[in-house]
Amino acid sequence: MTAIDPEIGAESAPATKLQVTHLNAYFGDLHVIRDITLGVPAEKVTAIIGPSGCGKSTFLRCLNRMHEHVPGARAKGEVLLDGVDVYHPSVNPVRLRRRVGMVFQKPNPFPTMSIRDNVLAGHRLNGTHIDAPGELVEHCLRQVALWDEVKDRLDQPGIALSSGQQQRLCIARVLAVEPDVVLLDEPCSALDPIATAHIEELIEELKDRYTLLLVTHNLQQAARVSDYMAFFYMGNLVEFDRTDVIFTNPKESRTEDYVTGKF
Ligand code: ADP
Ligand code: MG
Repeated sequence: MTAIDPEIGAESAPATKLQVTHLNAYFGDLHVIRDITLGVPAEKVTAIIGPSGCGKSTFLRCLNRMHEHVPGARAKGEVLLDGVDVYHPSVNPVRLRRRVGMVFQKPNPFPTMSIRDNVLAGHRLNGTHIDAPGELVEHCLRQVALWDEVKDRLDQPGIALSSGQQQRLCIARVLAVEPDVVLLDEPCSALDPIATAHIEELIEELKDRYTLLLVTHNLQQAARVSDYMAFFYMGNLVEFDRTDVIFTNPKESRTEDYVTGKF
């Protein structure tokens, strides 16, 4: 994969944060991820698009080993995070998930926890010491542009917020444990257009500091916020390229059909 380097005007390869090689995933006998090899560029937004059921969510779950918790599921292949094999027996999956955090389609703040405790939940559940919890809560809520809206009611339950605010709270909870990679699985599908716009702005702001993978069925959203796109079809990676190339000059006819709405 190459990209134009504006400094020198030449093609240069982006740094890779996650290198996925010959990844396969199964639910029992169902082979749902088929030999996918993909380098995920560091500190960029990579959108994953494709028809429902093509394996987008399963692919994300393989990256932080959540897949192995689904009954009957298994994965095979290699996933390197900064060169480290996440499937190596010495890797602690709980620690891995702090570096590779995940945000789901439906906002899922812990229902019995306050806004404050939701932000701190990743640390509390792992028993890690936090030097200045108040500062951390403020910092994370500012990062998701929620601080001004909630600073006077941090003790209220997270689920008392609107769904858009809940989703930003869930992103703050992921950011609180200082991840390198954030996996966003259709984070706006349950949100109204204004809340969606907030999340899109947030993705733009976060992308200089984090490597973001965004599953979306919304092609306009992918066009607006992503730098790269991967098109999945029936468990295969059909094409991966810069977002502008996918829309204007895709190499595969199946990609072209998908992005032009022909199927
Ligand atoms: P997408 O996110 O692209 O809609 P998924 O990754 O959810 O696709 O699903 C890929 C395939 O795996 C689909 O055929 C789906 O039916 C199947 N699948 C997903 N989750 C499970 C599960 N828990 N048990 C069995 N099959 C599953
Ligand atoms: Mg899905």
